[in-house]
Amino acid sequence: MTPRNLPPGWTRFRHGDFVCTVVSDGLLEMGPARDNFPSADQAELDGLLTANYLPVDNVRLNQNLLIVDTADKTVLFDTGVGINAEFGRATFGPGTGRAIPNMRAAGIDPGDIDIVALTHGHPDHCWGLVDDDDNKLYPNAELVISASEFAYWTDLSRADAAPEGLGKDQFRGAHKNLMAYRDRLRLLDDGDEVVSGITAIATPGHSPGHLVYRIASGGEAMICWGDLCHHQVLLLKRPQWRFVFDDDPTAATRQRIRIYDLVDTGRLGVFAYHFPFPGLGHLVRDGDGYSWVPAELELADPR
Ligand SMILES: [Zn+2]
Repeated sequence: MTPRNLPPGWTRFRHGDFVCTVVSDGLLEMGPARDNFPSADQAELDGLLTANYLPVDNVRLNQNLLIVDTADKTVLFDTGVGINAEFGRATFGPGTGRAIPNMRAAGIDPGDIDIVALTHGHPDHCWGLVDDDDNKLYPNAELVISASEFAYWTDLSRADAAPEGLGKDQFRGAHKNLMAYRDRLRLLDDGDEVVSGITAIATPGHSPGHLVYRIASGGEAMICWGDLCHHQVLLLKRPQWRFVFDDDPTAATRQRIRIYDLVDTGRLGVFAYHFPFPGLGHLVRDGDGYSWVPAELELADPR
């Protein structure tokens, strides 16, 4: 008999004095690699995927949500596509919108989250903030996001000018989710501290106000990098390739190269939103780019 229950969509690790939990919001099935990386040399793209035992006809992106318990505050980084009927699973498929059940399975109630820190305002990062009726899914949380990102995504005149479908929905969905937290909103600039040990680094490119976060405790540091890099092989080996949703491809590449160097030079850890679950690992220099080395996970409770 084969059991039919699913494996848990969460794991836990220690980072200095911080206890970190990763929960999955499910998988994004992105279709052919050529559509996702349109500037890539196509033969090289297919070759890199095949050499790494990955299909060329479907790029699969994880959605790894990081929850950091600093003992003083509990901080959630990004929210997944969410459960909203119009903007969440309806757009991204029934395999998504898993964040809250997985969080509960990990023993964390959404009411325990003190701060939701967003890397940026794209659907797979901010659409999980509210339910169908605009109720906050994290009722006790302050929302933090970069000032420029908030201004960009809550400007509904951009929705009017955007193409039908996801073009308009990106703005309408972001507005719906972000504005629900306007009574508890903190807008960040480069270098601002979220809580002691967690600092925002401005990395505009993938989106106008994209942030990555440096998370440091007890002599350990890692970069929670959101959509700085979407793929554990392609954009580490070829940071100059455009990902289809990069807003400013030249700036996105410049930020990738800058942050990879910061991580490599400082021997920092990486928490990667879209990499294979749980998205925790290190970079190792490999030719002109880098290779991904997943971190070993402990099976014991890290607390
Ligand atoms: Zn993303």
